Amino acid sequence: RAKSEGRNCYRVFTPEMDETVNLRRIIEEELRIALTTGEGLEVAYQPQIAMGDNSIVGVEALARWRHPTRGYIPPSQFIPVAEQTGLIVQLGEWVLRQACLASQRWPDLFVSVNLSPIQFRANDFANHVISIVRECGADPYKIELEVTESVLLDEECGTADALRALRNAGLRIALDDFGTGYSSLGYLHRFEVDKIKIDRSFTQSLGQGTKAAAVIKAIVSLGHAMSLTVTAEGVETEIQKNFLHTAGCNEMQGYLFSKALSQEQITRLLMQSSSKKIQCYAGGSPIF
Ligand code: C2E
Ligand code: MG
Ligand code: MG
Ligand code: MG
Repeated sequence: RAKSEGRNCYRVFTPEMDETVNLRRIIEEELRIALTTGEGLEVAYQPQIAMGDNSIVGVEALARWRHPTRGYIPPSQFIPVAEQTGLIVQLGEWVLRQACLASQRWPDLFVSVNLSPIQFRANDFANHVISIVRECGADPYKIELEVTESVLLDEECGTADALRALRNAGLRIALDDFGTGYSSLGYLHRFEVDKIKIDRSFTQSLGQGTKAAAVIKAIVSLGHAMSLTVTAEGVETEIQKNFLHTAGCNEMQGYLFSKALSQEQITRLLMQSSSKKIQCYAGGSPIF
């Protein structure tokens, strides 16, 4: 028995794992190339909508990778590899620059950019971000940074100081995927943030006999008690939207309104809705 257990211990590389390791190496190599040539990498922008009047108030910048031969590779595949290999630092900076440049085309919108916890670990991270925003000529008050709760857990890294420096420079901070991490409540009062984004798993569990409705209401009242903006992610149906509106969410984001679009599509969308009121962006052909 001991022998068979021992044997199991040596079966570290199953064929499937070999595949995974290979795939990861391929993604790493090709992402490195894409980051130097810029080929295949794009930034898509998903509208964020005000609950009150359905106007577009901002967009979230999302990395897109269209590989010349492998086709579309979703962020769920390449972001983790980028984080494991440190390439996220370069990728994140590239996305931030693109977003800052794009934001100048949209005077009335804020643009939010996702930041990985890995990026926060770099020396003098906050000042680095601030100088990129200035270099690109963007208005810092229109740039929002999305961080996950895991960033707040990294206490030794001077996270609180970094967030404060960023906010002092005018940037806004949003807590992404809120409710899925650890100690959400305990950490909130110790860090300066402006917004919480309720994770889409809660939105999508609405009406499924779960406690999602209660959790959402609790997050909204907590957020408002702390003067934060509350955004709901992953809104796909009118029923979800109506619940979130009644619950008091300030903003929402989801396929009900729009998927992430190219920069040109966003500009066109803003021109079409010159009253800035869009009901539901079902038309057109979102390419992302
Ligand atoms: P996230 O920051 O929570 O971004 C929202 C994700 O939800 C996006 O997926 C978006 O396309 C998707 N989404 C939006 N509305 C709906 C909806 O109604 N239904 C469903 N099912 N999904 C919806 P995406 O673009 O695939 O990105 C996944 C994650 O990858 C992001 O989650 C973010 O954590 C990460 N990511 C993407 N771009 C970047 C980046 O530039 N830097 C970093 N660090 N992470 C990124
Ligand atoms: Mg995000
Ligand atoms: Mg996220
Ligand atoms: Mg999210």
